[in-house]
Amino acid sequence: MSTTSTTGATATATTSTSTTASTSQPELDLLIVGAGFAGLYMLHQARARGLNALVIEAADSVGGTWYHNRYPGARVDIQSMEYSFGFDDALQQDWCWTERYAAQPELLAYANHVADRFDLRSGILLNTRLTGAHWDEAAQCWQAGTGTGTSGGRTWRARHLVLATGPLSTPSEPDFPGLSDFKGQVLHTARWPKEPVDFSGQRVGVIGTGSSGVQTITTIAPQVGQLTVFQRTASYAVPAHNGPLDVALEAQVKADYPGFRERNRRMMGGFGSLLPPNNFSAFSVSAEQRESMFEGRWQIGGFVLLGTFNDLIVNPAANELAGEFVRNKIRAAVHDPATAAALCPSHPIGCKRLCVDTGYYATFNRPNVRLVDLQTAPIERFTATGLVAGGEEHPLDAIVLATGFDAMTGTLLRLDLRGRGGLALQDKWQAGPLNYLGLCVVGFPNLFNISGPGATAAFTNVIVAIEHQVQWIADTLRDLRDRGVASIEATPEAETAWVAHVNTVAGRTIYLNCNSWYLGANIPGKPRMFMPLFGFPAYVQKCAEVQQQGYPGFSLAPLHA
Ligand SMILES: Cc1cc2nc3c(=O)[nH]c(=O)nc-3n(C[C@H](O)[C@H](O)[C@H](O)COP(=O)(O)OP(=O)(O)OC[C@H]3O[C@@H](n4cnc5c(N)ncnc54)[C@H](O)[C@@H]3O)c2cc1C
Repeated sequence: MSTTSTTGATATATTSTSTTASTSQPELDLLIVGAGFAGLYMLHQARARGLNALVIEAADSVGGTWYHNRYPGARVDIQSMEYSFGFDDALQQDWCWTERYAAQPELLAYANHVADRFDLRSGILLNTRLTGAHWDEAAQCWQAGTGTGTSGGRTWRARHLVLATGPLSTPSEPDFPGLSDFKGQVLHTARWPKEPVDFSGQRVGVIGTGSSGVQTITTIAPQVGQLTVFQRTASYAVPAHNGPLDVALEAQVKADYPGFRERNRRMMGGFGSLLPPNNFSAFSVSAEQRESMFEGRWQIGGFVLLGTFNDLIVNPAANELAGEFVRNKIRAAVHDPATAAALCPSHPIGCKRLCVDTGYYATFNRPNVRLVDLQTAPIERFTATGLVAGGEEHPLDAIVLATGFDAMTGTLLRLDLRGRGGLALQDKWQAGPLNYLGLCVVGFPNLFNISGPGATAAFTNVIVAIEHQVQWIADTLRDLRDRGVASIEATPEAETAWVAHVNTVAGRTIYLNCNSWYLGANIPGKPRMFMPLFGFPAYVQKCAEVQQQGYPGFSLAPLHA
């Protein structure tokens, strides 16, 4: 099969033995949707196993998250040497990160480098958005298409469908009254223009103070005339202490990169082996020792603060000690006591993803920056010239929506996905995203989701999580092909047990004690169900057992006669 993208790239899918049995058989072993890190690596691994694969990507470039999120200050919250592929030693030896925490342009360049280095572009159709896919029971394959639109309604028949569409790829755009009346510029952090945005001298409002908001606010504050920050929920931000990559550290890691990766894979979140969590309680030391240990990790920066003691994520009383440590940092950093009080979060620390910042709190000492606490002054409406919150009009030239994502399910539920008997995913997931192993859904044979609900990606260094899931999927597809299996589908019992397991694990932590996107709580009307699984190593072990034991929890069917 040979297809041509709207950019002129040619995708040539080599014919594998599994798809030549009859003319009614699908032309592809797998169709991969999305060309972020997950889709790129899925293509590479599929090819390595002789599987006939094609990637379709809605954007005009590879890179996913780092293509779409070009907002000022966008960068990783996991150190660059960890947030990168480990599957190819030459790649990790050759690539040199410039900063401890890489910024968006460098991450996008890295994604492009991977695409070129492994000759992936020949298997990717850009500007091609999947609109739906229907399971064809007779042919045991997916019929997937782009529907109407600029790409001309192309369709493909693929034995398997891999949704590498990203856990955070559909921006949340709250329906603020009157937003369309606003005459100034409206930008969403996750759909930032490619051209630089010049805010010089402007009155800019930023709505939202999660990771994207924190990074944007800190970066644009010195550039704008007046910055008004509209905060719904205060965030915990820990210092990145970002800077040029330490050459001694780089040499140390590169001297044994495979060993470093392996040690990281054994960490709960797939990263952090350079400074592992302490294995004792916050209550096993004196108050002075505790403070000094928190301080030590604060000075190192990043997520390591949450590893100061082993009970911060499981014991609310221990968690409160860490939360108060950060709140004291906020009070010390912010001169105006009322602003400092409004910036102090009240939810458990770590319950929402920590922000890793560069001077966020001190930004509020600038004379041109003002905080509006939406808890006491909610947004009432937008006007042609600004917005009204708590009865006060805020004149604005530009508005930045840093309002996050319809996480984990939003992208999938916007597709017309229909499984066995025409079952719509929207109906299947009416009460929440049921799944087995975070990979498969009952009623949707041969469909795999990467970094979706029920998997560990949201709590993990996502690249490590992607590498694991992609390898599992690729190995599974090769096994099935070799065994003459045409379809694989999770069983209802396994699905029910898996969802219960994810909730049991979450119930042992503080993660249920706040309104986070992990629970779907940031989207009005979204069913509340705790979506991500905590604990990467146990997940890896479970997936390996399933493979080694011949896929318990799945039903496998041979090719129909
Ligand atoms: C701003 C930001 C910062 C982040 N920082 C970190 C971090 O520091 N550490 C970490 O571990 N994780 C981080 N994440 C999580 C991040 O999502 C992952 O790190 C990673 O980039 C996800 O890769 P992916 O390939 O799974 O998905 P994505 O990179 O989101 O790629 C999905 C691709 O699918 C495409 N797509 C979606 N729907 C369709 C469709 N219907 N048809 C065709 N194409 C489609 C999209 O255009 C996109 O290109 C961050 C996320 C964001 C938004």
